[in-house]
Amino acid sequence: MVSNGPRRHDESMSNEQNSSVLELQSYLDRSPSPFHAVSNAQNLLLAAGFTEFSERERWTDTLGKYFVIRDGSLFAWDASSKDSFENGFRIIGAHTDSPNLRLKSSQQRSSLSYGQLSIETYGSPLLNSWLDRDLGISGRVILSGGNKEELLFHTNEPVCRIPQLAIHLDRGLNDKGLQLNPQSHLTPIWADSSNGSQSFNDWLGDQLSIATDEISAWDLMLHDTQPSEYLGANKQWIASARIDNLVSCYAAISALCDSADESSEKTPLVCLFNHEEVGSVSSAGASGQFLVGTLERLMNGMTIESRSKAFANSLCLSVDGSHANHPNYPERHDPDHIVHLNRGIVIKRNANQRYATDAIGEAIVKDLCERESIPYQLFSNRNDLSCGSTIGPTTAASLGVRTIDLGVPQLSMHSIRELCGVLDQTYLKLFCSAFFLAETTTS
Ligand code: ZN
Repeated sequence: MVSNGPRRHDESMSNEQNSSVLELQSYLDRSPSPFHAVSNAQNLLLAAGFTEFSERERWTDTLGKYFVIRDGSLFAWDASSKDSFENGFRIIGAHTDSPNLRLKSSQQRSSLSYGQLSIETYGSPLLNSWLDRDLGISGRVILSGGNKEELLFHTNEPVCRIPQLAIHLDRGLNDKGLQLNPQSHLTPIWADSSNGSQSFNDWLGDQLSIATDEISAWDLMLHDTQPSEYLGANKQWIASARIDNLVSCYAAISALCDSADESSEKTPLVCLFNHEEVGSVSSAGASGQFLVGTLERLMNGMTIESRSKAFANSLCLSVDGSHANHPNYPERHDPDHIVHLNRGIVIKRNANQRYATDAIGEAIVKDLCERESIPYQLFSNRNDLSCGSTIGPTTAASLGVRTIDLGVPQLSMHSIRELCGVLDQTYLKLFCSAFFLAETTTS
Protein backbone atom coordinates (compact mmCIF):
# COMPACT_ATOMS: atom_id res chain seq x y z
CA MET A 1 0.00 0.00 0.00
CA VAL A 2 1.36 3.41 -0.87
CA SER A 3 1.65 5.67 2.14
CA ASN A 4 1.37 9.19 0.91
CA GLY A 5 1.46 12.38 2.90
CA PRO A 6 -0.35 15.39 1.48
CA ARG A 7 0.48 16.20 -2.14
CA ARG A 8 2.33 19.38 -2.91
CA HIS A 9 3.54 21.03 -6.11
CA ASP A 10 1.51 18.70 -8.29
CA GLU A 11 0.39 21.52 -10.56
CA SER A 12 2.11 21.91 -13.91
CA MET A 13 5.74 22.85 -13.71
CA SER A 14 6.37 26.34 -12.35
CA ASN A 15 9.16 28.58 -13.59
CA GLU A 16 10.98 28.07 -10.31
CA GLN A 17 10.78 24.32 -10.69
CA ASN A 18 11.89 24.54 -14.31
CA SER A 19 15.02 26.45 -13.36
CA SER A 20 15.70 23.97 -10.56
CA VAL A 21 15.52 21.09 -13.08
CA LEU A 22 17.83 22.95 -15.47
CA GLU A 23 20.37 23.38 -12.67
CA LEU A 24 20.12 19.68 -11.85
CA GLN A 25 20.52 18.76 -15.52
CA SER A 26 23.59 20.95 -15.76
CA TYR A 27 25.07 19.19 -12.71
CA LEU A 28 24.29 15.75 -14.17
CA ASP A 29 25.71 16.58 -17.60
CA ARG A 30 28.89 18.20 -16.29
CA SER A 31 29.65 15.43 -13.80
CA PRO A 32 30.58 12.32 -15.82
CA SER A 33 33.03 11.11 -13.14
CA PRO A 34 33.16 11.32 -9.32
CA PHE A 35 35.97 13.87 -9.66
CA HIS A 36 33.74 16.13 -11.75
CA ALA A 37 30.80 15.62 -9.36
CA VAL A 38 33.02 16.88 -6.54
CA SER A 39 34.49 19.72 -8.61
CA ASN A 40 31.01 20.95 -9.56
CA ALA A 41 29.86 20.68 -5.92
CA GLN A 42 32.98 22.65 -5.00
CA ASN A 43 31.96 25.43 -7.42
CA LEU A 44 28.46 25.59 -5.92
CA LEU A 45 29.94 25.82 -2.41
CA LEU A 46 32.46 28.51 -3.38
CA ALA A 47 29.65 30.57 -4.94
CA ALA A 48 27.72 30.28 -1.66
CA GLY A 49 30.64 31.61 0.37
CA PHE A 50 32.27 28.35 1.52
CA THR A 51 36.07 28.09 1.74
CA GLU A 52 38.20 25.02 1.01
CA PHE A 53 40.47 23.56 3.70
CA SER A 54 43.47 21.41 2.88
CA GLU A 55 43.62 18.22 4.91
CA ARG A 56 47.41 18.52 4.97
CA GLU A 57 47.47 21.84 6.80
CA ARG A 58 46.71 22.68 10.40
CA TRP A 59 43.10 23.69 11.01
CA THR A 60 43.10 26.45 13.58
CA ASP A 61 39.44 27.43 13.41
CA THR A 62 36.75 25.14 12.01
CA LEU A 63 33.85 27.50 12.67
CA GLY A 64 32.27 28.91 9.52
CA LYS A 65 31.46 27.56 6.05
CA TYR A 66 34.16 25.13 4.93
CA PHE A 67 34.76 22.00 2.89
CA VAL A 68 37.51 19.47 2.20
CA ILE A 69 38.03 17.20 -0.82
CA ARG A 70 39.60 13.75 -0.91
CA ASP A 71 39.82 11.63 -4.09
CA GLY A 72 36.29 11.99 -5.45
CA SER A 73 34.75 12.60 -2.01
CA LEU A 74 33.78 15.89 -0.34
CA PHE A 75 32.87 16.92 3.20
CA ALA A 76 31.25 20.33 3.79
CA TRP A 77 29.91 22.01 6.91
CA ASP A 78 28.48 25.25 8.22
CA ALA A 79 29.38 25.57 11.90
CA SER A 80 28.35 28.58 13.97
CA SER A 81 29.82 27.68 17.38
CA LYS A 82 31.38 24.69 19.11
CA ASP A 83 28.71 24.95 21.81
CA SER A 84 26.13 24.26 19.12
CA PHE A 85 27.89 20.97 18.26
CA GLU A 86 26.39 19.52 21.43
CA ASN A 87 22.94 20.11 19.90
CA GLY A 88 23.90 17.59 17.25
CA PHE A 89 24.89 17.45 13.60
CA ARG A 90 22.46 17.14 10.73
CA ILE A 91 24.40 14.99 8.26
CA ILE A 92 23.37 14.25 4.67
CA GLY A 93 25.44 11.58 2.89
CA ALA A 94 25.28 10.57 -0.77
CA HIS A 95 27.66 9.00 -3.29
CA THR A 96 29.45 10.53 -6.26
CA ASP A 97 30.27 7.36 -8.21
CA SER A 98 28.10 5.41 -10.65
CA PRO A 99 28.55 1.97 -12.19
CA ASN A 100 30.45 2.29 -15.47
CA LEU A 101 33.37 1.08 -17.58
CA ARG A 102 36.86 2.28 -16.68
CA LEU A 103 40.09 2.46 -18.64
CA LYS A 104 42.91 0.18 -17.53
CA SER A 105 46.44 1.60 -17.09
CA SER A 106 47.93 0.28 -20.33
CA GLN A 107 46.17 0.92 -23.65
CA GLN A 108 47.65 -1.18 -26.45
CA ARG A 109 44.74 -3.24 -27.78
CA SER A 110 43.79 -3.55 -31.40
CA SER A 111 41.85 -6.06 -33.46
CA LEU A 112 41.64 -6.18 -37.24
CA SER A 113 42.21 -2.53 -38.11
CA TYR A 114 40.57 -1.14 -34.98
CA GLY A 115 42.34 0.57 -32.14
CA GLN A 116 40.52 -0.56 -29.00
CA LEU A 117 40.37 0.48 -25.37
CA SER A 118 41.15 -1.94 -22.58
CA ILE A 119 38.42 -1.52 -19.98
CA GLU A 120 37.38 -2.82 -16.58
CA THR A 121 33.82 -3.01 -15.23
CA TYR A 122 33.23 -0.75 -12.20
CA GLY A 123 30.41 -1.76 -9.87
CA SER A 124 27.36 -3.47 -11.36
CA PRO A 125 26.28 -1.67 -14.54
CA LEU A 126 23.54 -3.04 -16.78
CA LEU A 127 26.11 -4.06 -19.38
CA ASN A 128 23.68 -4.23 -22.30
CA SER A 129 22.90 -0.53 -21.87
CA TRP A 130 26.51 0.36 -22.80
CA LEU A 131 26.21 -1.12 -26.30
CA ASP A 132 25.78 1.18 -29.29
CA ARG A 133 26.05 4.36 -27.24
CA ASP A 134 28.24 7.30 -28.27
CA LEU A 135 30.77 7.31 -25.47
CA GLY A 136 33.13 9.98 -24.17
CA ILE A 137 36.08 9.70 -21.77
CA SER A 138 36.37 11.51 -18.44
CA GLY A 139 38.11 11.44 -15.08
CA ARG A 140 41.45 12.66 -13.79
CA VAL A 141 44.98 12.48 -15.17
CA ILE A 142 47.99 12.60 -12.83
CA LEU A 143 51.06 14.38 -14.16
CA SER A 144 54.65 13.21 -13.82
CA GLY A 145 56.74 14.91 -11.18
CA GLY A 146 56.85 15.23 -7.44
CA ASN A 147 53.60 17.15 -6.93
CA LYS A 148 51.26 14.51 -8.43
CA GLU A 149 49.34 17.35 -10.04
CA GLU A 150 45.84 16.31 -11.08
CA LEU A 151 44.04 17.45 -14.25
CA LEU A 152 40.33 16.92 -14.78
CA PHE A 153 39.56 15.52 -18.21
CA HIS A 154 36.19 15.38 -19.97
CA THR A 155 35.32 14.99 -23.64
CA ASN A 156 31.92 16.35 -24.66
CA GLU A 157 32.29 14.70 -28.06
CA PRO A 158 31.89 10.93 -28.50
CA VAL A 159 35.24 9.15 -28.81
CA CYS A 160 34.41 5.46 -28.71
CA ARG A 161 31.65 2.88 -29.03
CA ILE A 162 30.95 -0.76 -28.20
CA PRO A 163 29.21 -2.00 -31.34
CA GLN A 164 26.72 -4.81 -30.76
CA LEU A 165 26.95 -7.87 -32.98
CA ALA A 166 24.34 -7.68 -35.77
CA ILE A 167 21.23 -9.86 -35.38
CA HIS A 168 22.18 -11.65 -38.63
CA LEU A 169 25.32 -12.98 -36.92
CA ASP A 170 23.52 -14.01 -33.72
CA ARG A 171 20.15 -15.31 -34.88
CA GLY A 172 19.00 -16.77 -31.57
CA LEU A 173 19.65 -13.57 -29.63
CA ASN A 174 16.04 -12.51 -29.07
CA ASP A 175 15.08 -15.99 -27.86
CA LYS A 176 18.06 -16.92 -25.69
CA GLY A 177 18.93 -13.45 -24.35
CA LEU A 178 22.11 -11.45 -24.57
CA GLN A 179 25.27 -12.98 -23.10
CA LEU A 180 28.22 -10.59 -22.75
CA ASN A 181 31.74 -11.62 -21.79
CA PRO A 182 33.16 -8.53 -20.07
CA GLN A 183 36.73 -9.18 -21.26
CA SER A 184 36.00 -9.78 -24.93
CA HIS A 185 32.61 -8.24 -25.79
CA LEU A 186 32.79 -4.87 -24.04
CA THR A 187 35.98 -3.62 -25.67
CA PRO A 188 35.23 -0.28 -27.33
CA ILE A 189 36.63 0.75 -30.70
CA TRP A 190 38.13 4.23 -30.76
CA ALA A 191 40.64 4.51 -33.64
CA ASP A 192 41.44 3.22 -37.09
CA SER A 193 44.84 1.59 -36.65
CA SER A 194 45.38 0.56 -40.28
CA ASN A 195 47.77 3.46 -40.93
CA GLY A 196 49.63 3.30 -37.64
CA SER A 197 47.45 5.89 -35.93
CA GLN A 198 48.25 7.73 -32.70
CA SER A 199 48.66 5.81 -29.46
CA PHE A 200 46.05 6.48 -26.79
CA ASN A 201 48.66 8.22 -24.62
CA ASP A 202 49.64 10.54 -27.48
CA TRP A 203 45.99 11.33 -28.17
CA LEU A 204 45.36 12.05 -24.48
CA GLY A 205 48.41 14.33 -24.34
CA ASP A 206 47.10 16.24 -27.36
CA GLN A 207 43.67 16.61 -25.74
CA LEU A 208 45.27 18.02 -22.59
CA SER A 209 47.82 20.11 -24.53
CA ILE A 210 50.71 18.44 -22.71
CA ALA A 211 53.56 16.16 -23.83
CA THR A 212 52.83 12.45 -23.64
CA ASP A 213 55.63 11.86 -21.14
CA GLU A 214 53.99 14.32 -18.75
CA ILE A 215 51.19 11.77 -18.24
CA SER A 216 52.01 9.52 -15.30
CA ALA A 217 48.70 7.74 -14.59
CA TRP A 218 44.95 8.17 -14.74
CA ASP A 219 41.55 7.35 -13.30
CA LEU A 220 39.59 7.52 -16.55
CA MET A 221 36.19 6.13 -17.40
CA LEU A 222 33.58 6.11 -20.17
CA HIS A 223 30.36 8.09 -20.17
CA ASP A 224 27.33 8.55 -22.41
CA THR A 225 27.65 11.86 -24.28
CA GLN A 226 23.87 12.24 -24.67
CA PRO A 227 22.75 15.08 -22.37
CA SER A 228 19.93 14.67 -19.89
CA GLU A 229 16.42 15.37 -21.21
CA TYR A 230 12.87 15.86 -20.08
CA LEU A 231 10.79 12.88 -21.13
CA GLY A 232 7.08 12.03 -21.24
CA ALA A 233 3.85 13.48 -22.58
CA ASN A 234 3.97 16.30 -20.03
CA LYS A 235 7.74 16.41 -19.55
CA GLN A 236 7.11 14.72 -16.22
CA TRP A 237 10.33 12.67 -16.11
CA ILE A 238 14.07 13.25 -16.42
CA ALA A 239 16.14 10.80 -18.49
CA SER A 240 19.85 10.96 -17.73
CA ALA A 241 23.02 9.13 -16.85
CA ARG A 242 24.03 8.97 -13.17
CA ILE A 243 20.63 9.82 -11.63
CA ASP A 244 21.89 7.27 -9.07
CA ASN A 245 23.26 9.13 -7.24
CA LEU A 246 23.99 12.63 -8.49
CA VAL A 247 20.37 13.70 -7.96
CA SER A 248 21.03 13.15 -4.24
CA CYS A 249 24.44 14.89 -4.31
CA TYR A 250 22.88 17.92 -5.98
CA ALA A 251 19.95 18.07 -3.54
CA ALA A 252 22.27 17.81 -0.54
CA ILE A 253 24.73 20.48 -1.71
CA SER A 254 21.92 22.83 -2.83
CA ALA A 255 20.21 22.48 0.54
CA LEU A 256 23.47 23.23 2.36
CA CYS A 257 24.11 26.32 0.21
CA ASP A 258 20.53 27.54 0.60
CA SER A 259 20.51 27.03 4.37
CA ALA A 260 23.95 28.57 4.93
CA ASP A 261 22.73 31.94 6.15
CA GLU A 262 19.70 30.64 8.05
CA SER A 263 19.93 30.12 11.77
CA SER A 264 19.61 26.62 13.16
CA GLU A 265 20.60 25.08 16.48
CA LYS A 266 22.03 22.08 14.66
CA THR A 267 25.19 22.00 12.56
CA PRO A 268 24.54 20.97 8.93
CA LEU A 269 27.06 18.70 7.20
CA VAL A 270 27.17 17.12 3.75
CA CYS A 271 29.39 14.19 2.92
CA LEU A 272 29.62 13.00 -0.70
CA PHE A 273 31.46 9.70 -0.94
CA ASN A 274 33.31 7.96 -3.73
CA HIS A 275 33.35 4.15 -4.09
CA GLU A 276 29.82 3.31 -2.87
CA GLU A 277 29.18 1.19 -5.95
CA VAL A 278 32.11 -1.08 -5.05
CA GLY A 279 31.41 -1.43 -1.34
CA SER A 280 32.71 1.86 0.16
CA VAL A 281 35.91 0.31 1.55
CA SER A 282 38.58 2.87 0.61
CA SER A 283 40.36 5.86 2.09
CA ALA A 284 37.73 8.16 0.58
CA GLY A 285 34.73 5.80 0.93
CA ALA A 286 31.96 5.74 3.52
CA SER A 287 33.50 2.74 5.29
CA GLY A 288 36.85 4.52 5.57
CA GLN A 289 38.04 7.09 8.05
CA PHE A 290 37.08 10.22 6.06
CA LEU A 291 33.78 10.98 7.80
CA VAL A 292 34.78 10.08 11.35
CA GLY A 293 38.24 11.63 11.03
CA THR A 294 36.92 14.91 9.68
CA LEU A 295 34.27 15.09 12.41
CA GLU A 296 37.02 14.47 14.99
CA ARG A 297 38.97 17.41 13.57
CA LEU A 298 35.90 19.63 13.77
CA MET A 299 35.43 18.70 17.41
CA ASN A 300 39.09 19.09 18.32
CA GLY A 301 39.40 20.39 21.89
CA MET A 302 35.96 19.25 23.00
CA THR A 303 35.67 16.85 25.94
CA ILE A 304 34.61 13.24 25.45
CA GLU A 305 31.39 14.10 27.25
CA SER A 306 30.63 16.96 24.83
CA ARG A 307 31.52 14.86 21.78
CA SER A 308 29.36 11.97 22.97
CA LYS A 309 26.49 14.36 23.51
CA ALA A 310 27.01 15.78 20.00
CA PHE A 311 26.78 12.31 18.41
CA ALA A 312 23.78 11.31 20.51
CA ASN A 313 21.90 14.41 19.35
CA SER A 314 22.83 13.90 15.69
CA LEU A 315 20.84 12.52 12.79
CA CYS A 316 22.10 11.26 9.43
CA LEU A 317 20.31 10.88 6.11
CA SER A 318 21.72 8.39 3.63
CA VAL A 319 20.23 9.71 0.40
CA ASP A 320 20.30 7.33 -2.54
CA GLY A 321 18.11 6.14 -5.39
CA SER A 322 15.17 3.82 -4.77
CA HIS A 323 13.37 1.44 -7.11
CA ALA A 324 10.04 2.56 -8.53
CA ASN A 325 7.66 -0.28 -9.45
CA HIS A 326 8.29 -1.40 -13.02
CA PRO A 327 5.09 -1.60 -15.11
CA ASN A 328 6.42 -4.54 -17.14
CA TYR A 329 7.58 -6.54 -14.11
CA PRO A 330 4.98 -5.99 -11.36
CA GLU A 331 5.87 -9.40 -9.89
CA ARG A 332 9.36 -8.15 -8.95
CA HIS A 333 7.98 -5.83 -6.27
CA ASP A 334 6.37 -6.25 -2.87
CA PRO A 335 2.59 -5.81 -3.24
CA ASP A 336 2.30 -3.79 -0.01
CA HIS A 337 5.04 -1.33 -0.95
CA ILE A 338 4.20 0.15 -4.33
CA VAL A 339 6.38 3.09 -5.34
CA HIS A 340 5.48 5.47 -8.18
CA LEU A 341 7.52 8.11 -9.97
CA ASN A 342 6.51 11.65 -8.99
CA ARG A 343 4.67 10.62 -5.83
CA GLY A 344 7.27 11.57 -3.28
CA ILE A 345 10.55 10.66 -1.62
CA VAL A 346 10.95 7.03 -0.62
CA ILE A 347 11.75 5.85 2.91
CA LYS A 348 13.66 2.55 2.65
CA ARG A 349 13.39 -0.18 5.27
CA ASN A 350 15.10 -3.57 5.55
CA ALA A 351 15.02 -5.71 8.67
CA ASN A 352 18.46 -7.16 7.86
CA GLN A 353 20.04 -3.70 7.98
CA ARG A 354 20.75 -3.38 4.27
CA TYR A 355 19.12 0.00 4.89
CA ALA A 356 19.75 1.79 8.18
CA THR A 357 16.23 3.17 8.78
CA ASP A 358 14.47 1.91 11.90
CA ALA A 359 10.96 2.66 13.14
CA ILE A 360 12.04 5.83 14.93
CA GLY A 361 13.84 7.07 11.81
CA GLU A 362 10.79 6.32 9.68
CA ALA A 363 8.60 8.23 12.14
CA ILE A 364 10.99 11.21 12.08
CA VAL A 365 10.79 11.43 8.27
CA LYS A 366 7.01 11.05 8.21
CA ASP A 367 6.66 13.80 10.79
CA LEU A 368 8.91 16.19 8.89
CA CYS A 369 7.18 15.41 5.56
CA GLU A 370 3.77 16.04 7.06
CA ARG A 371 4.87 19.33 8.62
CA GLU A 372 6.43 20.51 5.33
CA SER A 373 3.70 19.01 3.07
CA ILE A 374 6.20 16.81 1.22
CA PRO A 375 4.79 13.48 -0.05
CA TYR A 376 6.54 10.25 0.84
CA GLN A 377 6.33 6.55 -0.04
CA LEU A 378 7.56 3.38 1.67
CA PHE A 379 9.89 0.82 0.09
CA SER A 380 10.62 -2.73 1.14
CA ASN A 381 12.15 -5.37 -1.10
CA ARG A 382 10.38 -8.63 -1.91
CA ASN A 383 11.35 -11.25 0.65
CA ASP A 384 12.52 -13.65 -2.08
CA LEU A 385 14.92 -11.16 -3.72
CA SER A 386 18.19 -9.98 -2.23
CA CYS A 387 18.15 -6.33 -1.28
CA GLY A 388 20.57 -3.62 -2.43
CA SER A 389 22.32 -1.40 0.07
CA THR A 390 23.72 2.11 0.53
CA ILE A 391 26.22 4.06 2.61
CA GLY A 392 23.55 4.14 5.37
CA PRO A 393 24.43 1.02 7.39
CA THR A 394 28.21 1.62 7.34
CA THR A 395 27.75 5.28 8.29
CA ALA A 396 25.42 4.34 11.13
CA ALA A 397 27.92 1.75 12.36
CA SER A 398 30.96 4.03 12.26
CA LEU A 399 29.28 7.06 13.85
CA GLY A 400 26.74 5.40 16.12
CA VAL A 401 24.28 8.01 14.86
CA ARG A 402 20.67 7.27 13.96
CA THR A 403 20.63 7.02 10.16
CA ILE A 404 17.72 7.05 7.74
CA ASP A 405 17.85 5.70 4.18
CA LEU A 406 15.69 7.57 1.70
CA GLY A 407 15.82 8.89 -1.86
CA VAL A 408 13.99 9.54 -5.09
CA PRO A 409 12.36 6.64 -6.95
CA GLN A 410 13.72 5.72 -10.33
CA LEU A 411 13.45 3.19 -13.15
CA SER A 412 16.41 1.56 -14.96
CA MET A 413 18.75 1.77 -11.96
CA HIS A 414 22.38 1.12 -13.02
CA SER A 415 21.56 1.55 -16.71
CA ILE A 416 23.71 4.03 -18.64
CA ARG A 417 20.49 6.09 -18.88
CA GLU A 418 18.17 6.13 -15.89
CA LEU A 419 14.75 7.72 -15.35
CA CYS A 420 13.31 9.68 -12.43
CA GLY A 421 10.40 12.05 -11.79
CA VAL A 422 10.65 15.83 -12.11
CA LEU A 423 8.55 16.36 -8.98
CA ASP A 424 10.50 13.90 -6.85
CA GLN A 425 13.80 15.71 -7.19
CA THR A 426 12.01 18.90 -6.04
CA TYR A 427 10.56 17.05 -3.07
CA LEU A 428 14.03 15.77 -2.17
CA LYS A 429 15.53 19.26 -2.23
CA LEU A 430 12.69 20.55 -0.05
CA PHE A 431 13.18 17.68 2.36
CA CYS A 432 16.95 18.18 2.60
CA SER A 433 16.45 21.90 3.35
CA ALA A 434 13.81 21.11 5.96
CA PHE A 435 16.12 18.51 7.51
CA PHE A 436 18.82 21.16 8.00
CA LEU A 437 16.53 23.89 9.29
CA ALA A 438 13.50 22.34 10.97
CA GLU A 439 13.50 21.28 14.59
CA THR A 440 13.71 17.47 14.71
CA THR A 441 14.44 15.26 17.66
CA THR A 442 16.64 12.19 17.31
CA SER A 443 14.26 9.94 19.23
ZN1 ZN B 1 23.20 4.61 -5.41
